[in-house]
Amino acid sequence: MIHLTDTHTHTWYSNDAHCNMEEVCRAAWEGGLSAVAITDHFEYKKDGVPSPYYLLRVEGRTAELARVKARWEGRLEVLRGVEIGQPHWNAAHSRAVAASGDYDMVIGSLHDLRPGRSIYTDYDYSKAEVRDEMYRQFFEEAREMVRVADFDTFGHYDYPIRKMEGYVEPTLTPWKAYALPFLKELAESGRALEVNTVGQRRWMGCVGGEQWVLEAFRQYGGRYVTVGTDAHYAQHVGIHVREAYEAMRAAGFDKVTIYRQRKPVQLSI
Ligand SMILES: [Zn+2]
Ligand SMILES: [Zn+2]
Repeated sequence: MIHLTDTHTHTWYSNDAHCNMEEVCRAAWEGGLSAVAITDHFEYKKDGVPSPYYLLRVEGRTAELARVKARWEGRLEVLRGVEIGQPHWNAAHSRAVAASGDYDMVIGSLHDLRPGRSIYTDYDYSKAEVRDEMYRQFFEEAREMVRVADFDTFGHYDYPIRKMEGYVEPTLTPWKAYALPFLKELAESGRALEVNTVGQRRWMGCVGGEQWVLEAFRQYGGRYVTVGTDAHYAQHVGIHVREAYEAMRAAGFDKVTIYRQRKPVQLSI
């Protein structure tokens, strides 16, 4: 049996999303998913300051998530998640958040790099040396995250490529030397790597689960792979999950991982 899962979705509790929890769950259910994780943004900004957007709403969000989870029980497994951006910038605080008991799964992501530059908007990717320096730092900070932060899966390792249209091929190959030590540390830490499906609906035309990346992760001992659509609209929930599974199978993975109460659970794909 194939278990379709989407463990990376956003609702209006994220400042850049356009749907509510009920709409995410309905889309997941209509798409035949067995599990969906709602993983709104919680960002650390420059100097490790937690962004107030999430903190101001977290109480209401936790309560609503519990209600939605109960409402869908028996039809769809709703997992309580969060996507923490730059958790290593305030390791003590982010560890406390992750351990609060409110979450089934925690995605660790890099949206910004030190000293507070947005990967999306603050780099001129037309310059090869800028791309190279950004990726060097990206994987250096990713390794630091593995060492000091508490998270379950590393989100969208291919995130910067989204903004490099016209300058590069949709592959991490030019930065393999930076990526491999990170994949090794992530695998050895027992955490998961996320295959993010955004690329399939953007210019890249493929999911962020490049074969050599997944193979390297597996060869380093990585066992857990999660799949997320990074949906910010309900219509994107659950799409291209099958393409992600194909990429995983090609690299030797026959299970997808979800997290329940921060514990990995593997499901057949
Ligand atoms: Zn993200
Ligand atoms: Zn996201």
